Amino acid sequence: MANQTLSSAVMGTYNRFPVTLVKGKGSYVWDEEDTKYLDYSSGIATCNLGHVPNAVEEAMNQQLGDLWHCSNLFHIPSQEELAKQLTDNSCGDQVFFCNSGAEANEAAIKLARKYGQDVQQKEQSQIITFTNSFHGRTMATLSATGQEKIQQGFSPLTPGFDYLPFNDDEALNQLEELSPTAVMLELVQGEGGVIPANQQWVERLASICQNQDILLMVDEIQTGMGRTGTLFAYQQYGIEPDVISLAKGLGSGFPIGAIIAKQDVANVFSAGAHGSTFGGNPLATTAGLATVRELTETPVVTESKKIASYLWQELESLKEESTIIQDVRGMGLLLGVELNQPAIDIVHKARNEHQLLIIVAGPNVLRILPPLTTTFDEAKQFISVMKQLLT
Ligand SMILES: *Cc1c(COP(=O)(O)O)cnc(C)c1O
Repeated sequence: MANQTLSSAVMGTYNRFPVTLVKGKGSYVWDEEDTKYLDYSSGIATCNLGHVPNAVEEAMNQQLGDLWHCSNLFHIPSQEELAKQLTDNSCGDQVFFCNSGAEANEAAIKLARKYGQDVQQKEQSQIITFTNSFHGRTMATLSATGQEKIQQGFSPLTPGFDYLPFNDDEALNQLEELSPTAVMLELVQGEGGVIPANQQWVERLASICQNQDILLMVDEIQTGMGRTGTLFAYQQYGIEPDVISLAKGLGSGFPIGAIIAKQDVANVFSAGAHGSTFGGNPLATTAGLATVRELTETPVVTESKKIASYLWQELESLKEESTIIQDVRGMGLLLGVELNQPAIDIVHKARNEHQLLIIVAGPNVLRILPPLTTTFDEAKQFISVMKQLLT
């Protein structure tokens, strides 16, 4: 029987803002009262092409009239084509499709364990992840996540994960002795506070992985799909991961996740080894395909770098004037502004007083996630709000 004392029939897993959004286009969203907001949260790094981007809308409208779902018992042309686009534009060779970020990392974890058994001949496979990381909310991915607050209350955790300190050079010396099957990391820790991995640390990690036959798995669920100024963040680090996890921006808001893997790794997923009913269905991969085409065949990602460097410069100079800003960091249009006060207060003020939507990454960090399609005028508007709130 329904609990009469609760005001919502939806479980209370989210702290929601007191706003109901009903429409979106480009960089803007509108609420029920028709108030217009500049959306620099992008559905948490998901609407990278802005809201309801024309190219994706058109492709989806066509697909909605043709076929929504047919299961992976049949060939799916848009799935094949999206996989081809993703492999043509990355160092990977084959793709597995699923429906979310956690599911993508689940697939990566299963793939690593199977590779450990089949190729490395290990009975038990350990996977190394890093402190402060975020890899998802399912049992395996919250166990992979290096944050106790995410794991609290859900023991027993899934075994098979060891955590090393992020960006810590000395910690890498332990890799040889730990002899893991795989290492999984975010190149910019998103939920953990917008913390980029150090270039030299990543290079050394990648070279240890290569020398010791450890799989290098990058969680690009937040950093991927153009967010950091290249299609994938790893491309700016000059490394070649064995496995790449994707979700968030892949479908412009339609739920879809994926892993891209190198051929020798992908090979261990033979028929029956893994699967998903919805994974890569015609509707989802139509959204993904239109999104990836837009990101790779138009200058949107290159153009976004200009906006990113403008925002970076402006935020850096705000930092000079401000007693509140402690640090400005990030990569491309995944920006973090660390404050010496609770970031959520600024988030509320930005929304209530300036109709600007931004979010937090941890208690003291503002997370700024403009659509890659944002204009200089919008970026200026954003900076003017930041100036009013932070100086
Ligand atoms: C959002 C996120 C996830 C989880 O994705 P879901 O779609 O919410 O399951 C995993 N890893 C990273 C880096 C993320 O940003």
